[in-house]
Amino acid sequence: MTRLWITRPLPTPVVAAAQALCDEVVVRPETLPLSAEELRRALTDFDLVLPTLGDQFSAAVFADVDAPRCRLLANFGVGFNHIDTGAAAKAGIVVSNTPGAVTDATADIGVMLMLMSARRAAEGERLVRADAWEGWHPTQMLGLHMSGKCVGIVGMGRIGQAIARRCHFGFGMEVHYVNRSEKALDFPATRVGTLTEMAGQVDFVVVAVPGGAETRHMINAEVLAAMQAHAHLVNIARGDVIDEEALIHALQSNTIGGAGLDVYEREPLVPQELRALDNVTLLPHLGTAALEVRTAMGHMAVDNVRAFLETGQVSNPV
Ligand code: NAP
Repeated sequence: MTRLWITRPLPTPVVAAAQALCDEVVVRPETLPLSAEELRRALTDFDLVLPTLGDQFSAAVFADVDAPRCRLLANFGVGFNHIDTGAAAKAGIVVSNTPGAVTDATADIGVMLMLMSARRAAEGERLVRADAWEGWHPTQMLGLHMSGKCVGIVGMGRIGQAIARRCHFGFGMEVHYVNRSEKALDFPATRVGTLTEMAGQVDFVVVAVPGGAETRHMINAEVLAAMQAHAHLVNIARGDVIDEEALIHALQSNTIGGAGLDVYEREPLVPQELRALDNVTLLPHLGTAALEVRTAMGHMAVDNVRAFLETGQVSNPV
């Protein structure tokens, strides 16, 4: 009897697809991450688990269970920094993710944050809602014009490239980037040697690297100090890629033009200091928040379950 645990409510067609594959599918009704006890139960009571962001499968969770029943963590989402994949492999558990399904939606949110931050959209909306708008005049709420400017992409992967394409083809922008390895790109872009060097050259820094130990606090006080005073920082990747304290300091002292954030270091906690500032746009992790995208992600996760059941391997291993 094959038992699958889906750790959050998912779109109905996704659950139906999973039900067609497994003897029993349990959909956890809660919307918050698994508790310590539930993480343990995921490994002991289920053959397959479809977890997601916030379900902290750390090394300690795997070490706590001697002979896990679970054989697959089919993660819902491309980011898997909440799963210690080394410890999972040691425990004999396969991990998969949902690359590609998230790319365009997340890139759209990235460009939206660039525009919102540069053109002061959230601040303007607050002004109107507060009934404090006194009417149009030529020097009211002047922001940074985005078309034709220069964007610096941190991590030229699937989402980084999708943002760069939008910037180049849609806004006539120059594209600079830093990336771990060499990339073959089908649009003009300049690879820069170091992140600090790039930060000093561009009008927008957009973060699109995965989270995790390798990228933690990659955007630190030094990188922020290198940015031009009018430049904007956008993060659609993971919160801990940015040193949030250093960012708050830069925003408070206006050493950068502004920031647009979809993700936070201690999500869902957003520091009061950030919430008090007008030069930062704050979104509640909306990157893939559209029904068709979440449905595509779910089907991709279920496809990994299907492949695993049929062949013992997944289509999207991590
Ligand atoms: P991807 O295709 O794997 O791209 C990541 C890129 O970052 C790769 O090009 C990689 O380089 C580069 N990279 C990794 N470590 C680096 C480092 N230390 N220095 C420089 N570059 C580095 O992943 P993706 O599909 O674009 O997704 C990126 C991340 O976005 C995900 O991991 C996830 O955390 C986040 N995300 C957020 C949302 C949201 O809702 N806000 C939605 C989807 C995804 P290589 O080519 O050398 O590997």
